[in-house]
Amino acid sequence: MMNQSPFYASGLRFSCTRCSACCRYESGFVFLSEKDLSLLAGACKMDYTGFVKTYCRWVRAPATPGNPDRECLSLKEKSNFDCIFWNQGCTVYHARPVQCRTFPFWQQVISSSGAWEMAGTGCPGINSGELHTREEIEACLAAGRAAGPLIDRQSACIRGI
Ligand code: SF4
Repeated sequence: MMNQSPFYASGLRFSCTRCSACCRYESGFVFLSEKDLSLLAGACKMDYTGFVKTYCRWVRAPATPGNPDRECLSLKEKSNFDCIFWNQGCTVYHARPVQCRTFPFWQQVISSSGAWEMAGTGCPGINSGELHTREEIEACLAAGRAAGPLIDRQSACIRGI
């Protein structure tokens, strides 16, 4: 049953300061759904195989209910841990993955006020700037779900990705 009064019922403040902390400096994963792959490969004018070979890697994704520990498709990062698409800013901004598009309104981040505050320790945009309504926050969650499941290695092999 849907939580009638989540901690973010009155909205949450967030405005990106473009500090790049979430796309540079530290190792991290940007997992891709089929929709993300389609958008990115299209933006790069590449087919799936070429795009995956050039810009992606397989990494172990955390297990979630119904999805055991598995290898999923993620963007590569440079040797200095910058996102492979970072160059004086995001070079694929209009085709960026839903994970980037919806941050910080991810299920795991808004699951509790503690998780939200924890995310704020790494992102100066959290708890400042624009007030996002509950509806806007839940629209981000819906966008994440609508992007579809992450691409896992086993199903990608079957489909020849
Ligand atoms: S860490 Fe937060 S403020 Fe910095 S670029 Fe990422 S979303 Fe924006």
